[in-house]
Amino acid sequence: MTGFPDIVADLKAKLPTVRGRLLANEMLAPLTWFRVGGPAQVLFMPEDEADLAAFLKALPTEIPVTVVGLGSNLIVRDGGVAGVVIRLGRGFGDVAAEPDHRVRAGAAVPDVRVAKAAQDASIAGLAFLRGIPGAIGGALRMNGGAYGGETKDILIEARGVDRTGNVRVYSNADMHYTYRHCGAPDDVIFTQALFQGRPGDTREIVAEMDKITESREATQPIKSRTGGSTFKNPPGQKAWQLIDAAGCRGLKVGGAQVSEMHCNFLINLDGASATDIEALGETVRRRVKETSGVELEWEIKRIGITA
Ligand SMILES: Cc1cc2nc3c(=O)[nH]c(=O)nc-3n(C[C@H](O)[C@H](O)[C@H](O)COP(=O)(O)OP(=O)(O)OC[C@H]3O[C@@H](n4cnc5c(N)ncnc54)[C@H](O)[C@@H]3O)c2cc1C
Repeated sequence: MTGFPDIVADLKAKLPTVRGRLLANEMLAPLTWFRVGGPAQVLFMPEDEADLAAFLKALPTEIPVTVVGLGSNLIVRDGGVAGVVIRLGRGFGDVAAEPDHRVRAGAAVPDVRVAKAAQDASIAGLAFLRGIPGAIGGALRMNGGAYGGETKDILIEARGVDRTGNVRVYSNADMHYTYRHCGAPDDVIFTQALFQGRPGDTREIVAEMDKITESREATQPIKSRTGGSTFKNPPGQKAWQLIDAAGCRGLKVGGAQVSEMHCNFLINLDGASATDIEALGETVRRRVKETSGVELEWEIKRIGITA
């Protein structure tokens, strides 16, 4: 892997007022749960929303932009990602309860911290976020959901910056949510969310969160290098049952394996490449199509180019 041409000096000359860090050929594997994939041509970590907006406004339009969160729903391909990859950090990390049982959170706040902030303020309805290992930006984009709750059930509005650097606010309706899908324009980088909960009892919320923690530990390979549910559940069916019926539990390609514990999870068992993991996913899709006629749709996002 030789990496991409270094365009950082050129970008810095074009974007003199940008305050965040710009790094050339920064490896993305450590930023993902699977721990695979090549570098970002440029990794940009904006200081705050104004910095992000100024960067996007001045960035030449021909340079592609990709945003990553905590990488818990992501396969970065082995050749890496051309253009600029944006990762939000500290400047997007505030979370606070507000009047009327609301919680406002920056897009870089892990979902679990939002669930905890709601619990501390006796706000019910957000505990399901405890079960999702991503950050709020990913929850907004994926309509993340677990244990009977979905992001669309609690979102009042999301703020974001579009590719031309304009800050916009999206109401719940503007997000056009369906199962694990957000219909807001693809170029929007979410920066903040405002959630609506309801009055709750702290002890009951703590008990619900504990139950979610136990259930996850019992049913998901959460200590493995994985990307969570690989495929969306087809209407009225469970992806894991179709995968099991197709005989794919434990199936391996290179160092990648279909989890023995939960067969809609793929795991990087032993030095897998992104190519191994994606090839395993495609093998599962083919076998499921052959045995049940169902075409599974990837839930995991795959970005970048093959090596
Ligand atoms: C063990 C395990 C269990 C999981 N269980 C669940 C579960 O129960 N329910 C569930 O819904 N998911 C689950 N997931 C999947 C994953 O955690 C969610 O999809 C999560 O919302 C992704 O957030 P992230 O920050 O990791 O995003 P990433 O994986 O980094 O990115 C996912 C997508 O969101 C986009 N994105 C990220 N940040 C932003 C932003 N600021 N603005 C715009 N777009 C952005 C990315 O471009 C990408 O398309 C699980 C994953 C693992 C590893």
